[in-house]
Amino acid sequence: LDSVEDLEMIGPTVAPTDLLVRLFHEEQPRVYDAQPVKFGCTCSEDRVRQSLSIYSVKDIQKMTTDQGRVTADCQFCGAHYDLDPKTVGKDAPEVNGG
Ligand SMILES: [Zn+2]
Repeated sequence: LDSVEDLEMIGPTVAPTDLLVRLFHEEQPRVYDAQPVKFGCTCSEDRVRQSLSIYSVKDIQKMTTDQGRVTADCQFCGAHYDLDPKTVGKDAPEVNGG
């Protein structure tokens, strides 16, 4: 890399791919096709319910807000989930079908 001029590093005289090949041709570098990048999150209410399904009624009660709800925020996409405590946790009647 010491043989590279600063300007060559940022192009556009030498394309990044050419520079790579020029510097590391002995390693037979490969450049993969560009992939489109898009924002996405796989969180969902079902997943929140699933992660809460290990907790007992007591635990769920501790998580219940003064407004009587169990809330969860996705730390990745910021989605906010607001659930009825009666419907979450391992002992929730609606989870166990009764
Ligand atoms: Zn999310």
